[in-house]
Amino acid sequence: MLWPLLKGLSVTLKYFFTRPVTMKYPEQRWEAGPRWRGRQQLLWDEERGREKCVACCLCATVCPAQCIRVEGAENERHEKYPAVYEIDLNRCIFCGFCVEACPVSAIIMTGAYELAEYTRDGSIYGKEELLQEPQLPKGAERSTTFSLESRLSGK
Ligand code: SF4
Ligand code: SF4
Repeated sequence: MLWPLLKGLSVTLKYFFTRPVTMKYPEQRWEAGPRWRGRQQLLWDEERGREKCVACCLCATVCPAQCIRVEGAENERHEKYPAVYEIDLNRCIFCGFCVEACPVSAIIMTGAYELAEYTRDGSIYGKEELLQEPQLPKGAERSTTFSLESRLSGK
């Protein structure tokens, strides 16, 4: 009776002084790696004062989950832009194909992984939300691994 108790306590004592393998989330957060494919972000073109997206619909066409909805329109400069751009993250499989397909590098995968919502509609991101840089977990960096620029530069 005493021997199994001592044996059990010795295991407890042994692990009491070792480094824990678990994290105290959310005080401590896991850092997404640079190639992490979190929720997407549409990029803004500062020079032209508009979103980079030209509403070509290539991302929506290539998306295997068919969760991207783009409706193009023409602005006063006769440039095409996305009047509607939506991604339904309920269906997204975070494959990154949309980023790969974009001819103007208008969309990237970010390091954001905390995407829980209370409703299914809350996981449907519209253009305004997608243009916002997500609140990344402390220490995480935005992944540009899949953007055209970074692929061309080999980084
Ligand atoms: S990451 Fe994949 S599934 Fe998600 S929107 Fe892009 S192409 Fe579609
Ligand atoms: S994000 Fe890129 S691929 Fe998708 S509609 Fe805009 S320009 Fe085209």
